[in-house]
Amino acid sequence: MPRNLLLLAALVACFALAQQPKRVDDSALRKAAPDEWVTYGHDYAETHFSPLKQINADNVGRLGLAWSWETNTEGGIESTPLISNGVLYATGPWSVVFAVDARTGKEKWRYDPDIARVNGPRLCCGPVNRGVALYQGKVYVGTLDGRLIALDGETGKPVWSVQTTDPKEDHSITGAPRIVKGKVLIGNGGAEFAARGFLTAYDANTGKQAWRFYIVPGDPSKPFENPELEKAAKTWTGEWWKYGGGGTPWDGLAYDPQADLLYVGTGNGGPWNISIRSPQGGDNLYLSSIVALKPETGRMAWYYQEVPGDEWDYTASQPMILADLTINGKQRKVLLHAPKNGFFYVMDRITGELISAEPYAKNVTWAKSIDLKTGRPNFSPEARYGTTGSIVAPGAGGAHNWHPMAFSPLTGLVYIPGQESSMNYTPDPNFKFEKGRRTMGANIGIDLMKSLAPPPKPAGSTANAPPPAGFLVAWDPVTQKERWRIPYSGGFNGGVVATAGNLVFEGSSAGDFYAYNAETGAKLWEAKIAPGAATPVTYELDGKQYVSILAGRGVVVNFLGDNSGPKIKAPPSRVFTFVLDGKATVEP
Ligand code: CA
Repeated sequence: MPRNLLLLAALVACFALAQQPKRVDDSALRKAAPDEWVTYGHDYAETHFSPLKQINADNVGRLGLAWSWETNTEGGIESTPLISNGVLYATGPWSVVFAVDARTGKEKWRYDPDIARVNGPRLCCGPVNRGVALYQGKVYVGTLDGRLIALDGETGKPVWSVQTTDPKEDHSITGAPRIVKGKVLIGNGGAEFAARGFLTAYDANTGKQAWRFYIVPGDPSKPFENPELEKAAKTWTGEWWKYGGGGTPWDGLAYDPQADLLYVGTGNGGPWNISIRSPQGGDNLYLSSIVALKPETGRMAWYYQEVPGDEWDYTASQPMILADLTINGKQRKVLLHAPKNGFFYVMDRITGELISAEPYAKNVTWAKSIDLKTGRPNFSPEARYGTTGSIVAPGAGGAHNWHPMAFSPLTGLVYIPGQESSMNYTPDPNFKFEKGRRTMGANIGIDLMKSLAPPPKPAGSTANAPPPAGFLVAWDPVTQKERWRIPYSGGFNGGVVATAGNLVFEGSSAGDFYAYNAETGAKLWEAKIAPGAATPVTYELDGKQYVSILAGRGVVVNFLGDNSGPKIKAPPSRVFTFVLDGKATVEP
């Protein structure tokens, strides 16, 4: 072949390679590509950290809007977008999925699973969804009515769909699925309706169920699903199974491919009030726990319960992060967790041993400390609300909720988006168990839902429970000490991304998007987005680094999604994508 033809052939081959779509397969999930964002936490360790550094602490001031795209949805946005092959995949409220060109913001497809907007699924906290999973050309979404749907990544058309929950029960799905070894993992919420929580694994190709792990034991007169639940049943009293028990794993999942362990954060007790749920007390395993499962079988390797006998809605379902740290001169494989209860836990992720736990929020009263020998909290005696009630901090919204935290291996810091809060818990004297209704067995001094709802209200209508005050704290997981802390006037700000550009990005509930110096916390950049920020991601295309975030609440039908009450007008929700020297503006 003549030399220039050879050169041409080589060029064509190179071009073909460059154009070959990168498939999200097991190896792509095990080794997260720096330029994409193919799983919820960026990587299996759920670090929400990107090694990209074109945008960095020196030039972030030049960041401007590249494009924005209106999602045309109604309700709050909690979605972390995924980026693969130049396409941004995200979800809106009502489990709507969309694919958008990550370069231009042009819509590629949209899929609406048609959840009933009126008299639909009963929801704890709005018709939200936190995102999709990608695998071998498919896009997976869990829906509010409990379905798991696989869509064709090119067209958005359903390939298969399974009902993961009993439609007669009040489970709902808001969390993003994860993919481990060819299986799709999906949990559920619903503990405020006393649902019995579980995590299920489905074959990613076919939707066939592989296994299911129940978080709490069922009726002991029937065979237990596994020995783990038989053991758990000894920590419950009364007739808990009649109420469901709770424990719904509605968000946090992580995977360690070397240890081959899947980590699940479990939810609160249902009903909240333990004197109804388990009247003679007990730890009530595996509520408010980190549970390590073997992904082939769904059998348990270990568990660590953060809040034995929970009755404050202290879920452990908050996002967790896996990291390798040097602690006391020893290399440790750890799991990092900042659950609702306000303590930051560092545990050995191979054995479940607790290494350390210290409060990352200022206002933590339910326990004085965590005993490192026993792993148990030193409860404040007044925290149990018994028959009289008690003011406890944090409140049920938690010092940290669904908003992803980030870990930078460069600074060694964890960036936690949280808030200070307290709540007046009182037993409900008129409690009557009714299926299909909130069955908490407790009243709370502020209306939790209103305190979360737009527009943010000064919920401090009771003197005891001030409105949540937000913070972003940079936490050293080795020394268990704060490095810096940014206060926000409102709580429930967005999730966090950290980058190798020495940056931390976070959007606020008020509608601002900030970049901070990851080492010092100095504010380096800000832009207006829309109130109600979700979680940013960053990616690179054609040599340009982008930062994308969803924000907005659209026209809110009603925060609880049941169409009762007036519509609240709010700015439309959008995907906002930024690039260095971006000059785009948001069309009014
Ligand atoms: Ca809950």
